[in-house]
Amino acid sequence: MIPAPFAYAAPTSLDEALQAVAAGGEDVKIMAGGQSLIPVMRLRLAEPETAADLTKVAELRGVREDGDAIVIGAMTTHSDVIADPLIKQFAPLIAEATETVADRQVRHRGTFGGALAHADPAGDLPAVALALDAEFVLAGPGGRRTVPAADFFVDYLTTALGEGEILVEVRVPKHEGWGMHYEKFNRVAQAWSIVAVAACVRTEGGRIAEARIGLTNMGPTPLRARGVEEALTGAEATADAIASAAARAAEGTSPSSDLNAQADYRQHLATVLTRRAVSSAVGL
Ligand SMILES: Cc1cc2nc3c(=O)[nH]c(=O)nc-3n(C[C@H](O)[C@H](O)[C@H](O)COP(=O)(O)OP(=O)(O)OC[C@H]3O[C@@H](n4cnc5c(N)ncnc54)[C@H](O)[C@@H]3O)c2cc1C
Repeated sequence: MIPAPFAYAAPTSLDEALQAVAAGGEDVKIMAGGQSLIPVMRLRLAEPETAADLTKVAELRGVREDGDAIVIGAMTTHSDVIADPLIKQFAPLIAEATETVADRQVRHRGTFGGALAHADPAGDLPAVALALDAEFVLAGPGGRRTVPAADFFVDYLTTALGEGEILVEVRVPKHEGWGMHYEKFNRVAQAWSIVAVAACVRTEGGRIAEARIGLTNMGPTPLRARGVEEALTGAEATADAIASAAARAAEGTSPSSDLNAQADYRQHLATVLTRRAVSSAVGL
């Protein structure tokens, strides 16, 4: 279908973008790569009066270092994320997960910030942001504020972004000496995750000193597998210890049932994928 008619704003700075969003009131939609928004508009599930396209806002693109963090601009495309040397060095989990997102064409247009702001429970990047303890910088009429990943994803397709706010950048702590792996299960290449697991693990003398595990598509928002993290912390980095900790991956989850998988199958998958993700992160 063709989208309902809408006005189009193409700001060239963040200030102009904030003005365009404020002028549009409740009926404005921010457009990043358009890879999720345009299909929704074509189905007429969204009929904004104005689309404020951030493509020309150069200050929202790119990756930079800032002390003990790397900072990823919201409009950095998935392809640029995959190729970025800072991400490769300090948070390779992001590049690994982004490589599994859709196909080359979508990755060329779709953006890091757009995927996070869209907050699809099957999206691959929210669980990665949780596992890396990322922080989200939002700009709005009242200035800037920073929201931890744990508070950003509020509900199904719903984030902490308030009216008139734009996601500007995401700050990711540098992870030096950590092992990481993203384990995604889908039926065909380039499809959305049925379930996926983002594992981030630091070992010391053969034991797991710290573990952060993010789950994709195991509820209306991405989740941390707290039971697994608790069981892994202080455990030996062995296959048996990891398997026994991973058995707790479904605790506290509420996955949906759909044509791809029933909820109980997703819960089973979470335990298997967590075992694989953690084993790979510790180098087993
Ligand atoms: C065929 C196909 C397959 C896909 N497969 C996958 C997959 O396997 N895994 C996966 O994770 N994703 C997948 N995606 C989604 C893809 O990652 C999109 O790029 C992403 O969901 C949206 O990014 P975007 O930049 O296109 O955002 P848009 O579509 O432009 O925007 C998405 C939403 O976020 C809001 N938004 C965007 N940017 C901002 C901002 N800076 N501040 C505030 N709000 C903002 C918009 O208003 C809109 O509501 C797929 C998409 C397609 C079309």
